[in-house]
Amino acid sequence: MTEAPTRGNRTAAADAPTQRAKEIQPAGSSAQVLEAEGLSRAMPGVVAGFSTALPPGTDRELTPQIRALLKGRGAEDPWHPVLLAQIHSARILHPESQWVPGEGTFTPEGRSCLEGDGLQGRRGDGHLFVVKTADCVPVLAVHTGLGAYAALHAGWRGAAEGILPHLLDLWARAGGDPGGVHLSLGPHIGSCCYEVGPECVAAFHPRHLRDAVAQTQGRPHLSLAQVLVNQAREAGVPAGQVDAGAPCTRCHVDDRGGAPFASYRRDSRQGTRPVGRNVSFIAVVPGK
Ligand SMILES: [Zn+2]
Repeated sequence: MTEAPTRGNRTAAADAPTQRAKEIQPAGSSAQVLEAEGLSRAMPGVVAGFSTALPPGTDRELTPQIRALLKGRGAEDPWHPVLLAQIHSARILHPESQWVPGEGTFTPEGRSCLEGDGLQGRRGDGHLFVVKTADCVPVLAVHTGLGAYAALHAGWRGAAEGILPHLLDLWARAGGDPGGVHLSLGPHIGSCCYEVGPECVAAFHPRHLRDAVAQTQGRPHLSLAQVLVNQAREAGVPAGQVDAGAPCTRCHVDDRGGAPFASYRRDSRQGTRPVGRNVSFIAVVPGK
């Protein structure tokens, strides 16, 4: 295992050489983005990353900054940010059937009309997929052969229901070889901090739990990243194409002693600050 540069635990054995911090300043807040550089190296034109915490109610303010990041890569608007009303499911939406691009996906109150936990598209469709998390795993994915990209929200329920295998199956049925899949798992609660009950462990197929459950003081602790890694390997995704080295949202501490990521488990229990959200995104710049 590679040592983490700052205190706190990383969520998986692999380090995260492909994620690089970049400071951006959304209106009314500040956030850093860890770019998922492994994905942009794998598929030209991909712009993808994971933000640090944004305060409650401000997560949509990040999208102008993500647009600026896209513009910096030579991609002019229009971009259509697509957010979900996340429901801890394995439901993956795609633009051809679930909504009309450009028509907007929000109620007048700003709530997404799209219920589900995954979004997938193809190069050239001009979407900016966004998922929000605060301990669950944001999964960003590309398929180089299909020119496809996706963003998933994988909490334990979604992971147990198989949202990642569902995506990989959709791509396989579209003719994509698993060797074309590249995945980047973003900051989430690590097994260091994720004590779970027996009902959670029982929800998973035993083969997906290999090396994913540790007993600490007699209580099971779950590595959601290891579950997702196991599922990816089962589907034939090469191990070297899964970046699972993101920090733990609950215990990671940055150079300034701050807790950069939103963590539902930490913040809701302590009541010290409202629970914000970490925002993850992926888009493909056309013509690259
Ligand atoms: Zn932790």
